[in-house]
Order: sequence, then C-alpha cells, then structure tokens
Amino acid sequence: MNGNKIIILGSSSGLPQAGRACSGYALKTGDSLSLIDCGGGVTSSFLRRGLNPLAVERIFISHTHPDHVIELPLFLQLLHLEKRREPVKLYLPADFVEPMRRFLPALYIIEDKLPFELDIVGYEEGFEYNDVFKLKAVGNKHLKAYKELIEINQLSNKMQCCSFDIEIDGKRVFYSADIATYDDIRPHLDGRDVVILESTHVALEEFIEHARSISVGRYVITHLGTDEEVGEINRMISKAGLDNVTTAVDGMEIPL
Ligand SMILES: [Zn+2]
Ligand SMILES: [Zn+2]
Repeated sequence: MNGNKIIILGSSSGLPQAGRACSGYALKTGDSLSLIDCGGGVTSSFLRRGLNPLAVERIFISHTHPDHVIELPLFLQLLHLEKRREPVKLYLPADFVEPMRRFLPALYIIEDKLPFELDIVGYEEGFEYNDVFKLKAVGNKHLKAYKELIEINQLSNKMQCCSFDIEIDGKRVFYSADIATYDDIRPHLDGRDVVILESTHVALEEFIEHARSISVGRYVITHLGTDEEVGEINRMISKAGLDNVTTAVDGMEIPL
C-alpha cells in the first residue's frame, strides 16, 4: 500500500443538503495533498477528516458553479491563517482568472499579504498537469446551455466545464465533475480504476447499461440529493447487480 487515496469531502448536489458538503475532494499522494473543487462546506469537512491544510500544494477547480468553487476564498484564508509558507498552485478555468483576481481583494485576501505565493494558472480543455501525478482536463458540455445568456449579457466566458482524467502511480481515476449528459464522458471511462461520477445530469439507466460493458474497478456516484433520491439510486444499483458501484458519503476514502 502506497497510502495514495481520494477522500470525498463533499458529496452534495448543487442543491445543498443538510448532511453533506458540496463538491470537494482531497487527493493524497505521498505527503502531498491536492484539493479538487471547493464547494460550500468543504473547508470544515476537510478539517473534520483530520487533514493538514499545510500539506495542500495545489487546487484544481472544474468549473465555477458555486457548489464547486464558493469556498475557495475561505480555504485560502485557512492556508493564510495556518501560515503556509510554501507556494500554492491554483488551477482555474481560464475565464475565471481575472474575476477571481478582482474578487479576492474585495474579500481582503490580498495576494501580496499572503504568507505563501499564490500561483494562479488559467487552464482550458486539453490542459495537462504533469508533476506529482498526471491530470488532463477533458472538456464537457455542462455549461453550454448558458450560451445564449452569456452572449446576451456580453460576458467573456467559454462556458467550459472540465472533467479530470488522472493518473497516479499507474492508477487511473476519472472525475466527471458536472456534465451535460453521459455522452460527455462515455469514451473516457474504460480501463479506469476509479470513476467518480456525478449523478445529477446522468440517466442512471444509461450508466448501468454502459457499466456492464466496460472495465472499471470502482464507481463512486456523487453530487447527490435527498436521502430518498440516494435510496432510489442504491435500489437501482442493487437491482442491476453491479457490485463495483457505491454512492458517496462525506469522509469516504478511496484507496488508490
Ligand atoms: Zn455541481
Ligand atoms: Zn455545475
């Protein structure tokens, strides 16, 4: 066992749930931590798992819906107040870099005053991070429905949400983030050791049918709604006889 793992910090859908934080994942590789998405409740969930904020070296944000990004400033404040000294890399959708640079000072988070260097990197689909592990940003159509509104309001936004295809010590992990339909990610799942799949925009029947025909070690269904909705998903999975599929709970650890 190398100790590498993913810890689910938040498994709620965009409709916040009383018993779950919104989207957030800690990725532990050796002594290093990465944070993927930072929705509401993720900061306290991170601390509740006994994780060390000073070990967080990089943060990846899949897209800028509040349930994936709204606690990012609070998480940076945590790193500030814990006196992190080493640089932190923050990977943001390219369209969001300038809004974030304006937002942070309005929250009294002044980059020059931080005890660590905040290295903000704007990325677009196809971007590849290749250092402690590999991560590729796979564009999906989750935000494309906003096209008309974005154009009417003359906003500069490519409406890009990215799934993340990750490789760590030979283990393959696919995080769907939010998608438009299952077709967005269908070609990318075969051969993955772990697939973290959001449930809100996926037709479960379609997923179940596909899951029978491809090789995936373990599926974790997340981005979940009410207990009743989760119960229904669990019933469908059980009825389908898929023993490599589970629904997420906050604090769940997935060894890699
Ligand atoms: Zn979401
Ligand atoms: Zn979203």
